[in-house]
Amino acid sequence: AVNQHDVIIIGAGAAGLMCAISAGQRQRDVLVIDHARKPGNKIMVSGGGRCNFTNYYIEPDRYLSRNPHFCKSALSRYTQWDFIAMVDKHGLPYHEKEEGQLFSDLKSKAILDMMLKETGQAGARVQLKTEVDKIRTLPEGKAPYRYQVSTNQGDYQCQSLVIATGGLSMPTMGATGFGYQVAEQFGLNILPGKAALVPFTLQPEEKELTEPLSGLSTPAVLSCNKKSFTGSLLFTHRGISGPPVLQISSYWNPGDELQIDLLPGTDLKEILKDGRQNRPKTELKTLLSDYFPARLSKALCEQWFKNKTLSELSNADIDHIASCLHQWQPRISGTEGYRTAEVTLGGVDTDELSSKTMEAKKAPGLYFIGEVVDVSGHLGGFNFQWAWSSGWVAGEVV
Ligand code: FAD
Repeated sequence: AVNQHDVIIIGAGAAGLMCAISAGQRQRDVLVIDHARKPGNKIMVSGGGRCNFTNYYIEPDRYLSRNPHFCKSALSRYTQWDFIAMVDKHGLPYHEKEEGQLFSDLKSKAILDMMLKETGQAGARVQLKTEVDKIRTLPEGKAPYRYQVSTNQGDYQCQSLVIATGGLSMPTMGATGFGYQVAEQFGLNILPGKAALVPFTLQPEEKELTEPLSGLSTPAVLSCNKKSFTGSLLFTHRGISGPPVLQISSYWNPGDELQIDLLPGTDLKEILKDGRQNRPKTELKTLLSDYFPARLSKALCEQWFKNKTLSELSNADIDHIASCLHQWQPRISGTEGYRTAEVTLGGVDTDELSSKTMEAKKAPGLYFIGEVVDVSGHLGGFNFQWAWSSGWVAGEVV
């Protein structure tokens, strides 16, 4: 027997659930299917367990896409205020961490539970452990049903088919390239992807210098390809991480130089020259500990520079130390890749979709929402907002 529904959504993540809510509220008969054992795995792990569900300052320039205008329509029709209103309606407490980033006070599960409750109230059903084998277009005679989805749980027909299967990051959480395969099947262009919001790994010589610092963090400004991000840089066993590192990774391509100022807002050259004059017996290590955590300053003087008294520093030494710390250009070997990336850049070319509805121009009734589309946000709640907004606008028309 074939099951028939108005709308089938593949992917019970952030975008898919929001689409189900919006379509269900319009009295559409909606089935959400997912191959995972549980819905919303990424919501669960997001924001370090406290889901950074949106940002007060959602702006199109916080998104990367080949067409920077594409995201505007959806973001302006389902805004951060709409999502905040839903969170408020459910009485869930939250706080602003920094730069408008809104985190749940409760575990991420509270946000997922809210989404599932809304989904249920809208009359939409979520069916898990459902593997899709094949999608095919139905002949005109089957109207209004346009697509057939064959799965390990049986065959389903629908009028509108929504692909909400996300990107490639974190395969252990159920991420697959399924959405791209569907796009390909229907002749849609796909823009090559890469792992983003991801830590960097460093080349062996560089790693020797940074490994002893692992676990330490310090404020820094990172620049690459005319973009800069400020925040706390974290040294790791494999390289560098922390918010500004993740942010800049979206703008970095293999071979690009990354420049790091580990002492933003100071002029170390002047400070060292001044110290040589006025406190010549002070050790470099001691002077640097005015600016860095003590362990970091010690490690820098053991690994990066020779510890000397300031009086022993030549002008060349001073130039060297200042440039190492203000313009550090780490030798990068790559990123940690999809294993730990928070998002996937690239995806279904936005030229193939309507920015108002997310419907594929070449395949009426077929929609792509969320991360599978070539729209990726900065760190800070921007990716979830894209998932909510694109999911909502599709749900209004499916
Ligand atoms: P997803 O949420 O990934 O959902 C896709 C769903 O499709 C999954 O349930 C998956 O099981 C299912 N699926 C995949 N393939 C198939 C298939 N073949 N058949 C059936 N089902 C399939 N963003 C923020 O804004 N704030 C944060 O705090 C934040 N923290 C993050 C932390 C981590 C560790 C990670 C990895 C990401 C984080 N992100 C965060 C990014 C955010 O999670 C994603 O951008 C967002 O979840 C994308 O939503 P989506 O619905 O498009 O895809």
